[in-house]
Amino acid sequence: MLPPLQFLIDALFPPQCIPCGKKLASSHINSHTGTFLSVCEACFDAIPIRTGFVCSRCGARQPTLVNGCHKGTPIIVAATEYSNHETQALIHALKYEHVRIASLPLAALIAHHIATHEEIVERGPFILIPIPLHTKKEAARGYNQSELLARELTKLFPQTFSLCSDSLIRIKNIPSQTTRKTHSERASNVHGSFFVAKPETLVGKIVFIIDDVSTSGATIREAARVLKHAGARNVLGLVVAKA
Ligand SMILES: [Zn+2]
Ligand SMILES: [Zn+2]
Repeated sequence: MLPPLQFLIDALFPPQCIPCGKKLASSHINSHTGTFLSVCEACFDAIPIRTGFVCSRCGARQPTLVNGCHKGTPIIVAATEYSNHETQALIHALKYEHVRIASLPLAALIAHHIATHEEIVERGPFILIPIPLHTKKEAARGYNQSELLARELTKLFPQTFSLCSDSLIRIKNIPSQTTRKTHSERASNVHGSFFVAKPETLVGKIVFIIDDVSTSGATIREAARVLKHAGARNVLGLVVAKA
């Protein structure tokens, strides 16, 4: 039975599936993803989970997490494709419509990808660092969407990921990467964006940088550069979707 307050909230604001608008019962438990009030089972099942990994420089598929085609650039673990309609709807809700709960199914997509690639868990444990927002942008949004994803993943994989939110700092407030056209423009735009505040926590560690979407890979490559410079042994990327 639902608690009285939840019953009242549901009556006033019936939960809806973000991608398709279908009304959801808050007591409904999605068998894949636990209880969330933001996506129906059909929409969740319509999101294909990728196999393998992605080179952050050229986008080529990588069969394993080591020895990628571009040496020295991070390999990205991407759960799905941004071109998928349901994925886009969930990411848009999380980033631009203040729907924090959308972080749960998005983290579940990453969890599905990890569950089918044993290599990831076997190589852990990892430090998990969310791509930071500039303080002005985070204040405007009220949260960092990548940090919400990171929190969910550390709950789902407590032995594999240990969250570190205060080490990587964004020192440059740049316009959204989606407004930039070419890959080289994106790379020069993001250069000098990050600063590492607590290098001693990273020395010799393998770090996963988590973000919602990777487009050109420039943000993850720049974050990886400063984290390695600060002493991280290896840096990998983790995103919901590859655009
Ligand atoms: Zn739906
Ligand atoms: Zn490559």
